Amino acid sequence: MMSSPRNLVVMATHRIILFYGFTPIADPFAVKLWQRELAQRWNLTGRIIVAPTGINATLGGTVEALKRYVKSTKEYPGLGKIDVKWSAGTGDDFPRLSVKQRPELVAFGAPDEVSVTTDGVVGGGKHLAPQEVNDLVATRGEDVVFFDGRNAFEAQTGRFRGAIVPDAATTHDFITELESGKYDDLKGKAVVTYCTGGVRCEILSVLMKNRGFGEVYQIDGGIVRYGEAFGSTGLWEGSLYVFDGRGSLEFDAGSTSLGACELCAATTDRFLNCADAACTTQRLACEDCVPGQAFSDRCPACSTAREAWLPRTEKTSV
Ligand SMILES: [Zn+2]
Ligand SMILES: [Zn+2]
Repeated sequence: MMSSPRNLVVMATHRIILFYGFTPIADPFAVKLWQRELAQRWNLTGRIIVAPTGINATLGGTVEALKRYVKSTKEYPGLGKIDVKWSAGTGDDFPRLSVKQRPELVAFGAPDEVSVTTDGVVGGGKHLAPQEVNDLVATRGEDVVFFDGRNAFEAQTGRFRGAIVPDAATTHDFITELESGKYDDLKGKAVVTYCTGGVRCEILSVLMKNRGFGEVYQIDGGIVRYGEAFGSTGLWEGSLYVFDGRGSLEFDAGSTSLGACELCAATTDRFLNCADAACTTQRLACEDCVPGQAFSDRCPACSTAREAWLPRTEKTSV
């Protein structure tokens, strides 16, 4: 049977957008409702966080729907400047839409240390475009240090060359890390903070400057923009972990994950969940060693936590 043009199904092109905007939000609850209504109207899925200091979102949907959502969102005072990062999507990258109101845009545990205007965060590190990052390293050499602003596990598959990766299980650990004295030798150096899309460094760079790190930079658009500019030919090495169904991203065919399967040491960028569904630890495992979607055993961190929690009698029998 011949199909008439009327029966042709136009396949929608799906994309994922990632953006953040720092601006004063006087009524976060109202903005949350507005954002939810807007995202639902365009059938978007993903995650939106609204705080008194701004908005942070990762969303999936059709190109047309996302464009309309972005257009409306940019009408809010101070959000006209947002830098929206677009990447390929499948239409099935997020299980649902989640819109939440939080005291902080990123949970560093320091809501009172950050102030914003419609121009963005006050007192953060100097923004560098990708080329400026390379220029800084070319002129200052060993005097420049990359400082990973992500959770430590994210750096297992990729990081900037020679980067310092703080011992942070979550963003909440950064203040303790910065105040531990471990990084005091960086206070006289040029420190380039980096994270996935830049939002975490907007805050991290303020926290560092407030704690005596004298020369702090952040990368415009984070690793995403740097990787788009230089792929595997610049100072970035490996793949980029992302918090959605895609797992890890390679910027070009020449990049190889720095991650190794914790069982056989084969190169992999495959992060799996712990056997304990409540545990957020991500561990690397190749398809051959762990074919399923999660480990069948607990990670060292939650095994230890569980042991500490068990009554003494049970503990001895473990
Ligand atoms: Zn393996
Ligand atoms: Zn665990």
